[in-house]
Amino acid sequence: MIDALLVLNTGSSSLKFQAFARETLDQLIAGKVLGIGSAAVFQADMQDQPQLQRRLSRSDHESALAEVINHIDRHDENWRLNAIVHRVVHGGVEFTHPVVVTPQILECLKALSPLAPLHQPHNLAGIAASSRIAPDALDIACFDTAFHAGRAQLFECFALPRKFHDQGIRRYGFHGLSYEWIARCLQNDRPDLAAGKVVVAHLGNGASLCAISGGRSVDTTMGMTALDGLPMGSRCGALDPGVVTHLDRSGLDANEIDRLLYEESGLKGLSGISNDVATLLASTDPAACFALDYFILKIAQFVAGMTVSLGGLDALVFTAGIGENAAPIRDGVVDRLMFMPTFETLVIPTNEEKMMAIHANELLEHAACAG
Ligand code: ADP
Repeated sequence: MIDALLVLNTGSSSLKFQAFARETLDQLIAGKVLGIGSAAVFQADMQDQPQLQRRLSRSDHESALAEVINHIDRHDENWRLNAIVHRVVHGGVEFTHPVVVTPQILECLKALSPLAPLHQPHNLAGIAASSRIAPDALDIACFDTAFHAGRAQLFECFALPRKFHDQGIRRYGFHGLSYEWIARCLQNDRPDLAAGKVVVAHLGNGASLCAISGGRSVDTTMGMTALDGLPMGSRCGALDPGVVTHLDRSGLDANEIDRLLYEESGLKGLSGISNDVATLLASTDPAACFALDYFILKIAQFVAGMTVSLGGLDALVFTAGIGENAAPIRDGVVDRLMFMPTFETLVIPTNEEKMMAIHANELLEHAACAG
């Protein structure tokens, strides 16, 4: 019998899954359900076999997860799911480490939904579904904010009256599981850099930077929500807050403003073509070129800012879909930083799912020792 962990990344319209063997952390299976909320399709990557695809008769989160678990049961009776590990975008002030989810914890996490309205409710829908469908497996939550906990207050407060900080209105930062994975890779492969000053650029549909020193997050570009900092696929990034109050006064309600800033802005808004960097790189439209130039400029400006936070820069690490694959974006950023003293440039693939499996394993081992 193989003890296994099922790692889930539940979004509004997709559920991505990977199962890992606990002992070796080898990936056993991976796949996704796309089209949740409309026409759900289940896809699984099978070793040495063509990809499996199936339309689902129901398209809610619970049916999607039921299909994943049925697939695992059918696929190999030899696996025993010890835990289902959920990616949760916001842990707020309280959740600075992975936790075994209890009904009380789930309530606390629901209370954080206004801080990540387009992500947190879907992450929690995944937890609610798994506790009904697989009640024997523990639910473990890993947080995108956790790696940034414990930064100096200078880096995590807004210039607002103190009471707002005390109410939790502060810079949490995100993509922490990715940054933690990169810090771990550096520790294993480049201990010289792991001990130094490193800026990691996580450039995917969501994008942020993290200034890391000695394996710890010192500063990061995202704030209380996942909107701040770099412009992204369809998110605006740093914006004059006066624009938001202006939009409010001109008649948009909070949901409409959220939709504009999360889904219609960034590369998509600037180009009017796409949120997708590969598409924009392939386009000859000047608006695509402008959007990418803007993206590169902002990344370089923010890298310089993170360098100030670190007091220097030994290496700039690119990761995630754009960081790993889009050489013209990397080259554009490095060109704009030519004025700075020499630093190394690295590309390291991220693996948030494996990082979650590592955390879950540690938590289960700790619980076994304590029990
Ligand atoms: P998510 O945040 O959704 O996980 P990813 O990390 O998968 O996003 O990154 C998606 C982005 O990576 C898209 O903008 C996509 O165009 C870009 N990308 C992926 N592969 C390439 C490639 N070969 N060349 C250029 N851009 C790429």
